[in-house]
Amino acid sequence: MDYTISITNKCNLKCTYCYERHLNTEYGCVTDDIKPKIADFIKSRNDVGVLYLFGGEPLLYKDTVKYYCGNIKAKKYVITTNGTLLDEDFIKWCADRKVIINMSHDGKDCTDRGVETALLDANLKTLLKYQPNTLVQLVYTEQTLPKLYDNIMYLKNLGVNTVSAVMDAFLVPSDPDSFGDLLREQWRKVSEIRDLYVYELEQKKKNIREHRRSLCEICKKKIFINWDGNIYPCVQFQNRPEYRCGNIFVGIQAEAARKAHPDYSMVSERCKGCEIAEYCRNSCACRKMSTTETVRDISEAACMEEQVHILTALELISKENGGKNQ
Ligand code: SF4
Ligand code: SF4
Repeated sequence: MDYTISITNKCNLKCTYCYERHLNTEYGCVTDDIKPKIADFIKSRNDVGVLYLFGGEPLLYKDTVKYYCGNIKAKKYVITTNGTLLDEDFIKWCADRKVIINMSHDGKDCTDRGVETALLDANLKTLLKYQPNTLVQLVYTEQTLPKLYDNIMYLKNLGVNTVSAVMDAFLVPSDPDSFGDLLREQWRKVSEIRDLYVYELEQKKKNIREHRRSLCEICKKKIFINWDGNIYPCVQFQNRPEYRCGNIFVGIQAEAARKAHPDYSMVSERCKGCEIAEYCRNSCACRKMSTTETVRDISEAACMEEQVHILTALELISKENGGKNQ
């Protein structure tokens, strides 16, 4: 089982696309009282795969992050941070314990997020010294889509070799046709960048080659533990009581949520008959919830992004196979 602990949903930045801001939930953090109880709950289960430390911005509470990395035995530890609070001592501490740090950085101009790009650049360079394959996560919006390639190249020129680029989940294109064309053009350019691992395209290629389809089930392979100790299937469901699956005191109680939500992994209406549905990840409940606030539908923009990823990955596979498909 993979566990995500939300250390806090507070953050020192103000990204327009932030899922936390759209969730409209109460803000808080893991308190000294609840901290060991979350650790005890996870340890008692004896089944930890990956332990994710998440936020908001988890490094607002570095000591809590260190506490979990030091006190829970996991196969892998992953911290997701906006990078503003990274310092060399903390990075070294993580490197010594093989704790992976994923950092977000949107490229050339991050000022809209409420941060100086120069600060992120400097912290990213320090991180790359200790963790050269760090995954850098970029979010693009309708406004920044025309510069997607440029922003990814900006990161590459800082020394990044592994990047993930995801669309603002709330994006509603003002002109879907031209948006779709631009999406295709930018992703094609991104796919031509050499010596760069682009997570979305590599994963898509892998899934196509291996005919792998991810099926999402409530609290079967992963759970999300909120800073208040309540358990949810994943981040998008935090503080939605109808999806709560117990808490650290009573344990995982997923049956009621499974029964109440048989539509959790349903294929959206728009997907019926789609020829590339077998390669698409949009039946994921978290994706659906993040883009439409229901588990029954996926947004038009997310559907377009998925089509572009699939077509681009198929082109890459064809090129790698000398012109033959798969
Ligand atoms: S850095 Fe992350 S948590 Fe913070 S405002 Fe931006 S998207 Fe939200
Ligand atoms: S590409 Fe779009 S229509 Fe097709 S399965 Fe995915 S979300 Fe549905």
